[in-house]
Amino acid sequence: MTTAILSALAEEQQGLLDLLQRPQCVTRAGREFWLGELHGQPVVLALSRIGKVAAATTATTLIEAFGARRLVFTGVAGGVGPGVQVGDVVVATEFVQHDMDASPIFPRYQIPLYGRERFACDEALLALLSGASRTGLIRLKAEFHAKPGVVHQGLIASGDRFVSAAEEARALHQALSEAGHPPLAVEMEGAAVAQVCHDYGLPFAAVRTISDRADDTAHVDFPKFVTEVASRYALAIIDEFVRRLPAR
Ligand code: SAH
Repeated sequence: MTTAILSALAEEQQGLLDLLQRPQCVTRAGREFWLGELHGQPVVLALSRIGKVAAATTATTLIEAFGARRLVFTGVAGGVGPGVQVGDVVVATEFVQHDMDASPIFPRYQIPLYGRERFACDEALLALLSGASRTGLIRLKAEFHAKPGVVHQGLIASGDRFVSAAEEARALHQALSEAGHPPLAVEMEGAAVAQVCHDYGLPFAAVRTISDRADDTAHVDFPKFVTEVASRYALAIIDEFVRRLPAR
């Protein structure tokens, strides 16, 4: 069973590419897909690119052209929930689109014609990803000689916007919370991939390392984190995750 592993940015993917056995690169829809094996599991690695539409195209291509039967996203995000700090990890239980608003025709945040605001992640996959994240963070702690980040589990909000102002992050968190969807983190792709996987009835899970607090210093914190540590987090977590997948 082919597992797709998506990342948004090249820096998040690099460590995984280095680990890929029997790598083969195929171009489709203007994107590069890397087929190969990780610990004996057939995988395809892809960059979602940035934003919901790009991520949906990549996810659809992974399913239709490469036969992916489960999809996992690993990337970075801005922490917006209380106590969600840079260096922590959020394993998604569900996704919401914070910029979806077809009101008053449909309730705020509801995806028109789906009758729902949230898409849930696969319980078995997210449990594996949580365990892998905890072990991965302990490995990183030894590597960096630093305090390990906390592994959180909960709702992630996606939208086509890099949130980089404290007031905006606060307002976004408050509006979503008042509607019953308090998010732990904000990013730009996960909800799109979750929706595509829902359409195809395929399991999806996602893990995001917190690169910034989506506040006034996010534009400084984000690139620093991405170049210095994002790839090592993704590698440590996915390496552990793939080892835990049931044999093919
Ligand atoms: N110019 C940047 C753009 C990155 S956009 C570059 O190419 O390097 C930020 C990426 O990280 C997206 O993939 C998004 O999912 C995630 N992300 C991290 N922090 C975020 C934040 N505060 N708001 C929204 N997305 C964030």
